[in-house]
Amino acid sequence: MAEIVLQDIEKYFGDNYVIRKLNLTIAHKEFVVLLGPSGCGKTTTLRAIAGLETVDTGDIRIDGKAVQDLRAADRDIAFVFQLFALYPHLTAYDNIAFPLRATRESKAEVETKVRQVAKALKIEHLLKQRPSALSGGDMQRVAIGRALVRRPKAMLMDEPIGALDAKLREDMRSELKRLHIENDSTTVYVTHDQVEAMSLADRIAIMNDGVLQQVGTPTEVYRYPANLFVAQFIGSPVMNILPATVRGEGPRSELVVGEGAAAFDFPGDLPRRLAGKQHQSLTVGVRPEGVIVFTEEAPGTIPVEAHIIEPLGAYDIVDFQIGGQLLRARTTSGMVKRIGETVWARLDEAQTHFFDTGSGDSLEIRLGEGHGAHQA
Ligand code: ATP
Repeated sequence: MAEIVLQDIEKYFGDNYVIRKLNLTIAHKEFVVLLGPSGCGKTTTLRAIAGLETVDTGDIRIDGKAVQDLRAADRDIAFVFQLFALYPHLTAYDNIAFPLRATRESKAEVETKVRQVAKALKIEHLLKQRPSALSGGDMQRVAIGRALVRRPKAMLMDEPIGALDAKLREDMRSELKRLHIENDSTTVYVTHDQVEAMSLADRIAIMNDGVLQQVGTPTEVYRYPANLFVAQFIGSPVMNILPATVRGEGPRSELVVGEGAAAFDFPGDLPRRLAGKQHQSLTVGVRPEGVIVFTEEAPGTIPVEAHIIEPLGAYDIVDFQIGGQLLRARTTSGMVKRIGETVWARLDEAQTHFFDTGSGDSLEIRLGEGHGAHQA
């Protein structure tokens, strides 16, 4: 078992309140990604778990045992940093073998364990090389090998592939996922890259300014963001965020965005459901794939004019201006042909999120069934 429990963790650097009342449980064998912008406290949290940083209040428990008073070396945790930190004068083999030799394992045991890890990481052919002869990706594989070889209770990784180029990062992402599936080690992984977080995590813990904003599976945080920060941090292109009001009675209502030029068709019970939620003014969020575009007028659509078209190959991102606001849609490639063209759009009610403008919190109103709406 290697469950990691963070309970009411707080950390100050002088007057700088870096972690605020953090509560998070990482289950045995789980892969949890700490995600957030630079300076939000991710690395400090990871270092506190590793024992490389003290905390001011709260408990850290690994396997049910409080570890605050244990030295880093006694916590049975391995750490992989962004910078490879290999011994330059040692071969890849000796770098991986280093932690085993430090605990005086027999030569035969060292040989078996290094070969096993090298096989899993597909670096058997590189074991005789020194780090200077390795590519960035291979150096990081060796560093991961050195962390894995002890079979630690938990792996902590701080932007381990952040220094690699885009293609290598993609390859390493799949490698890390496969390794986790094979090794089953409880993993806490820090990144500011939401794509990395979405692709690797069992659950993502999103932080901002030292405060945990939401913890959930990639699908949960994408589909049901708890607040405006999460809504805008997860997803690319970013979610459309628009000031809005709702009007109307009867079978249908209208969602008016921006300065009132555009009124989208919505279910009749929306005003009543909003009235039941404490909020001062309303902000709606719709991801570009939730803006459904039609080339001809269709029921419930409004005319919109294309301002910018970004062809991205598999699909296009088209910017419209409505009510003084920018509305971005994801359309079938080539659907909107030229700037200035008028097409028709509606908002998919199942993909429309409602937030209190003041607090930024989601009002947790979920309309429609499922999220499977596709472009016409
Ligand atoms: P990044 O992605 O840039 O590493 P992060 O989310 O990991 O950011 P931390 O490195 O945990 O953030 O830093 C959180 C805050 O704590 C920052 O404001 C940082 O300047 C401050 N900080 C971190 N380490 C120290 C330190 N040793 N002394 C003083 N302040 C520190």
